[in-house]
Amino acid sequence: MDVNDIYSQTILEHSSSKKNNKKLEKVTFSKKGVNPSCGDEIVLEVYLENNTIIDAGFNGDSCAISKASTSIMIDQIKGKTIAEAQSIADSFIKLIRKESLLKEEKESLGDAIALENISNMPARVKCATLPWYTLKEIDKNN
Ligand code: ZN
Repeated sequence: MDVNDIYSQTILEHSSSKKNNKKLEKVTFSKKGVNPSCGDEIVLEVYLENNTIIDAGFNGDSCAISKASTSIMIDQIKGKTIAEAQSIADSFIKLIRKESLLKEEKESLGDAIALENISNMPARVKCATLPWYTLKEIDKNN
């Protein structure tokens, strides 16, 4: 596969964007995610009001694929409830596992569809899914 097919413009933009790569001033939930196979470590922070995700950000040290996936995810979950956001995460994990998605599930992913080709690169799958698994863990210990 041509590397340009994988590192699409969307992924490139998000991997270098600082927009969501930030610490929040007000944090409702904070969760660390680690992918030892690549060395990715992220801390995902979410701020909720009335059960709706008002803002989210991430920090830590992660590779370009992981950064891009986290940034795209954050854009996609703002304005959603935790339950809605976690259902988007389920759809993303299905996409990367090459499971078939309903039309609504696919639509809920927005720009995250750009990461679909990662499913053909087993070594990078965990980089792409790390933030989404971290999101799924977010209120389990709170
Ligand atoms: Zn990685």
